[in-house]
Amino acid sequence: MVLKRNDDIKVNAVLFYIKQNKTMKNFQQPITENLIESLRKQFKGTVIKPNDTSYDEVRKIYNAMIDKRPGAIAMCTDVNDVKVAVDFGRNNKLLVAIRGGGHNGGGLGLCDGGLVIDLSGLKSISVNTKSNTVKVGGGCVWNEVDTATQEHGLAIPSGMVSSTGVGGLTLGGGVGYLARKYGLTIDNLMGAEMVLANGSIVTANKNKNPDLFWAIRGGGGNFGVVTEFTFQAHKVNTVYGGPTLWPIEQVEEIMEWFDGYIRTATDDINGFIATMIIPESPFPEHLHNKKYCGIVWCYVGDMTKAEEAFSPILAKKPLFAHIGEMPYTAIQTMFDGLLPTGMQWYWRADFFNSLNADIRAQHLKFGSAIPTPLSQMHLYPITGAASRVGATDTPWAYRDAEYCGVYIGVDPDPKNADKITKWCKGYYEALHPYSAGGAYSNFMMDEGQERVQASYKQNYSRLASIKHQYDPTNFFRVNQNIIPKS
Ligand code: FAD
Repeated sequence: MVLKRNDDIKVNAVLFYIKQNKTMKNFQQPITENLIESLRKQFKGTVIKPNDTSYDEVRKIYNAMIDKRPGAIAMCTDVNDVKVAVDFGRNNKLLVAIRGGGHNGGGLGLCDGGLVIDLSGLKSISVNTKSNTVKVGGGCVWNEVDTATQEHGLAIPSGMVSSTGVGGLTLGGGVGYLARKYGLTIDNLMGAEMVLANGSIVTANKNKNPDLFWAIRGGGGNFGVVTEFTFQAHKVNTVYGGPTLWPIEQVEEIMEWFDGYIRTATDDINGFIATMIIPESPFPEHLHNKKYCGIVWCYVGDMTKAEEAFSPILAKKPLFAHIGEMPYTAIQTMFDGLLPTGMQWYWRADFFNSLNADIRAQHLKFGSAIPTPLSQMHLYPITGAASRVGATDTPWAYRDAEYCGVYIGVDPDPKNADKITKWCKGYYEALHPYSAGGAYSNFMMDEGQERVQASYKQNYSRLASIKHQYDPTNFFRVNQNIIPKS
């Protein structure tokens, strides 16, 4: 193509604009030795830098596919360390990432070249047994919280793998076994202590900074560093549940049945539906390495009525059922061993309003083509208590969706990274046209602004204006980023 002079000018202007914006987006000062020394003087915790022997170990996160190299990692010991680190990052114009449990699929707890504010030293947990409320340090992971709350027969709704961080999971929403009975994790968040971008330490709850409190119930780490969460806990001790499996060829039939069943079931019962390969342990040998449609159940009602509650499920004649009474911590840790840290991890997600025949047919197609033994697909029902919160009461916009779906590619071998990525993208592309339009932000990779906006839908503009109020320069931008807008 021959460009005319006017076209030439336009093209050059566009290229210049792209270059400028790229530069502005990536603008950050390098972290020099002198700067690190000045941080160390004010900071109680350890500051790790690239030539320290522990650097490669400390910079690791859950997803081994992510290999970012921060300029420094500030291992905070308390809220004052967090404040020092935030002030240091801001005053020196550094790119800053906040790391809680380090489980984010897209690696948003780390950054290249900048400062990582690591919260893993903020581990306090205190349970108030009069009010059944729990204060949790911003760097805890869920198994630490579950262990502390279960001592008192209490539980906070969280997720399904207990090594996940409280920080990221909560700030994004929190979908777990107790969601139908007690709502999402954010529905049980009562308040937070936070360090804002300007370094101030504030409380956010329904009385103090209520707009900030609204924003952190789904808006992620965009608004500040949460150094302490306060949760409402519930009496949950023994649960009844476990997996049921059917051959993958039955996935369409089981999905159709499950869809009808769960819409009318009591809130006491929850289950997520999956396509998966059965690993060698702890399942019986005859099941190994075949593809299945599975449902993992968790019932939290009256234990004397549990068997009755499961009779319509067992009437579907699963090939394998391993259900029964167990401590809450047992179901919370059931998949921890299968999904240890350090695997290749890639996922894509969407919300769905139905499981119609076209959708079910795609699950059969992609469920039959799972690429590696640990790769899987999950559909979590957004019904019961989670669906009774208004769509604008929190930023979590898809309260009216029926399912939160996620295609998860997992493998220990980096050589299989492309294979699992391709399968997830293919699954996503085939089903996205049938989706509700956006995804749960905690199940997204780093997928760009359009997807972030789709994830918050009608709530995005309010989030953008609260972001403008609390973080007008977008200091906290290593996240599913909400761009400040007045
Ligand atoms: P990090 O990587 O440390 O942080 C993630 C994001 O949150 C970053 O942007 C970070 O800046 C921000 N952040 C973290 N802590 C704070 C804080 N204290 N203050 C401010 N910002 C903070 N999600 C569910 O809802 N239900 C599940 O059942 C579930 N299961 C999962 C299982 C596995 C194996 C994995 C890997 C993830 C799972 N998730 C689940 C998704 C999980 O919620 C997200 O990956 C979440 O981002 C993890 O939080 P983190 O603190 O561990 O991550």
